[in-house]
Amino acid sequence: MTMPFTAPESYVGGVIAAGEPDADSLCFAFEQTLLLVAGEPPGLRLPAHWELTNLGRPPLRRLYLGTLGQRACYAFEYGADTEAPPGMAWQGLRALYGRLDDSLFALAGRALQYIDWDRTHQFCGRCGTPMRHREGERARECPACRLIAYPRIAPAVMCLVRRGSEILLARSPHFAPGMYSALAGFVEPGESLEQCLAREVLEETGIGIANPRYFASQPWPFPHSLMIAFVADYAGGEITPAPDEIEDAQWFALDALPKLPNRISIARRLIDGVMVEMREANP
Ligand SMILES: [Zn+2]
Repeated sequence: MTMPFTAPESYVGGVIAAGEPDADSLCFAFEQTLLLVAGEPPGLRLPAHWELTNLGRPPLRRLYLGTLGQRACYAFEYGADTEAPPGMAWQGLRALYGRLDDSLFALAGRALQYIDWDRTHQFCGRCGTPMRHREGERARECPACRLIAYPRIAPAVMCLVRRGSEILLARSPHFAPGMYSALAGFVEPGESLEQCLAREVLEETGIGIANPRYFASQPWPFPHSLMIAFVADYAGGEITPAPDEIEDAQWFALDALPKLPNRISIARRLIDGVMVEMREANP
């Protein structure tokens, strides 16, 4: 199963560009977390490199990303309040899902993460010296104490718990009104994915789980997660939502599901996948 934000098949990562950006280059230009796009749907596209000069100022940083097919890919960051020229607009990535080509959408997520990492690793976290790019590697290095910083990825697990013909869904206070999703949380140092899964479900809902099965994973660039999704069976306990973290949690029958997350996220793919599996088992 291919998830949104997963690397396209024809993408080859790289850190050293063969030359300067040209008319064929793919340019992922960001202002904070907003991507610069040109045209109107369904013809939404990335700006050409020459069009970036219309922004009227140089980028704060430029990173080479590798190639998509034969085309070189670059990420650019522009300063806050850089105005989009006529015919172009800064847009949030989530809203571009399904409106921008899937391969470009996935690479935009990668570009956003590299830019964020580059921006937040300008100085050594150990001695405060300005960091520099490490030759031939996606890394920044401190010239004084040799500390190396690689792009950060935070693993997080997601769990959909099954109990007979029902699934456990919960909502946190920041969800859209009425929307419920599978449970999720960040992996702690010293914890296996399975241990994290059991801890998160227990902490958030008071429910015990058994028999976790891997479902799929998804890179999630807000800001740098790797979501790893599982299905598990109910193994005991009564629903007791964690105060502040979980507003409500319920067992839902397949024919009475609440509003679910958008198909951009692995949460929805997980819920849909389990629904198909359960319907096939109990036609
Ligand atoms: Zn240092």
